[in-house]
Amino acid sequence: MSNKRIIVLGGGSAGWLTALLTREFYPEFDITLIESEEIGILGAGEGTVPHFIELIDFLRIPVSALVRECSSTLKIGIKFTNWNGDGTSYFHDFAAKDELEEWVFDDNFRYNMLTTHLIGKGAHLDSVNFYAGLAKQWKVPFVLNDLNDVALSNYRDSISAVQHLGNFALHFDARLLAKYLGHIAQSQRRIKRVEGKFSRVTEDADGNITGIHLENGNYVPCDFIFDCSGFARLLLGKHFNEKWIDYKQHLPLDTALPFFVPHDGTNFPPYTEAIAMKYGWMWRIPVQNRYGCGYVFDSSYIDEHEARREVEEYLGHEINPPKTFRFQAGTFANTIVKNCYGVGLSQHFVEPLEATSIWTFSKNLINFLKSGAITNLTPEVSAHLNERCRLIIEPVPEFLYLHYLTQRNDSPFWQQFRAKTTMMDSLKVKKSLWEKVPLFDADTLPLQMFSAPSWLSVGSGVHFFDKASFARLASQWEHLQLDQKAGFLAKKHEHLSRACMLHGDFLSLLRQKSQPVQ
Ligand SMILES: Cc1cc2nc3c(=O)[nH]c(=O)nc-3n(C[C@H](O)[C@H](O)[C@H](O)COP(=O)(O)OP(=O)(O)OC[C@H]3O[C@@H](n4cnc5c(N)ncnc54)[C@H](O)[C@@H]3O)c2cc1C
Repeated sequence: MSNKRIIVLGGGSAGWLTALLTREFYPEFDITLIESEEIGILGAGEGTVPHFIELIDFLRIPVSALVRECSSTLKIGIKFTNWNGDGTSYFHDFAAKDELEEWVFDDNFRYNMLTTHLIGKGAHLDSVNFYAGLAKQWKVPFVLNDLNDVALSNYRDSISAVQHLGNFALHFDARLLAKYLGHIAQSQRRIKRVEGKFSRVTEDADGNITGIHLENGNYVPCDFIFDCSGFARLLLGKHFNEKWIDYKQHLPLDTALPFFVPHDGTNFPPYTEAIAMKYGWMWRIPVQNRYGCGYVFDSSYIDEHEARREVEEYLGHEINPPKTFRFQAGTFANTIVKNCYGVGLSQHFVEPLEATSIWTFSKNLINFLKSGAITNLTPEVSAHLNERCRLIIEPVPEFLYLHYLTQRNDSPFWQQFRAKTTMMDSLKVKKSLWEKVPLFDADTLPLQMFSAPSWLSVGSGVHFFDKASFARLASQWEHLQLDQKAGFLAKKHEHLSRACMLHGDFLSLLRQKSQPVQ
């Protein structure tokens, strides 16, 4: 079975990442990616989480090359603006590197104790958040390094002038990313690209797909197929008619109005901004030559014209959205059906908040490729792996739902949100539990995308936690002098951040040091 024939149907970021990851695990496979230039890719989806850096490292793609080729910028977290409707904001960072914690904490004292104490006092967690401090100054957690030269070496990069102080992720131009990954796949990784529109499948007696007919008359045979066809959902949806699990009762947003806004190209924020609007929220993601933006709203209240008017009023200028996307928050019950595995939008999509999609699909896909099941897939193995996928996908909507439990009430959408949606039972349990025992890392399972610091940032940002309960919990740590520690931590962060580089300067350095694509 060493030369199995694999089809990847679709050439968006899901398709090319699938082809490249499959190649890393199976050097002998014959991999063909089918895509239609006329249909094109979605082109939205420009934010990631730190796992993306590990992913491209695993794929032997240097961060600096991606920055150069995909108009990338760094992302150290998400700034949530106006979610309580009061002109304030809170920052959801990528939890600090272990070393950063070691520098400032002793064994008796953990970040979670401090945050429990601060929430109990009604203080803003950004005051002790290193990344929130950097974000205000448009800086990144890198310092010019004259002491040692470790730098980005663990990311296979040649940048030795900087030292890395914390987690980061990337923003990129989604079209450039697909193009760049496609270039690497075809020129360096022996992945074949076939152009054409899907027409129909051929199958064997057990219902396994044996090949794809294209509208241009081509036929591509296969032993295994990845459905990466985006919202078209050609195989899991249209061919297999797999059961769909809807999240609409929790997350009602269903329409996105994307558009671009130019910037001056010199310095820009190292974060995604998520701005609460009257009927949903708007993302603002900086890449090197523009902001990619989009208003995600609930179409049961407004249509795209009203959404556009609200955005123009907020920004103070006209926008030109090329098209509107409709989506349904949800997932197919199974990721694997027969010899077909769904990746990306073709398998599930919740909504753009927190940029969860690439993390979820790549985590599941790597588990699948590692398992070796692609060469020996039985119904029992499929059932086991489908259950693992479910455990990774299912907690995401719960964490996203938390973001909407805010104080904002300036429109029917926000006024009726709690009444018109259902809180997950698991979230009710968490709320009640965390009023009795402090929220620690162990409360979040290893398979979940969001750990305790994320729950604390967002939960306190929207005032989800009961202050009196948190104050009562923190009273057991009075001997730790937490206010003094908070002051010490804020000073330490301020001192460290003075040495950190401006985002724009750091990107210029990365661009200078990277090699152009061959
Ligand atoms: C508004 C919005 C914002 C998002 N933001 C984020 C984010 O910040 N972070 C994140 O991780 N994810 C985000 N996502 C999800 C994101 O889009 C996906 O993670 C990612 O881009 C993968 O897309 P895809 O490859 O699945 O689909 P697409 O990019 O749509 O690719 C589908 C491919 O299938 C091909 N195809 C379709 N039909 C046919 C046919 N009949 N014949 C041949 N080929 C066909 C197309 O040509 C294309 O190549 C967002 C999604 C939306 C809708």
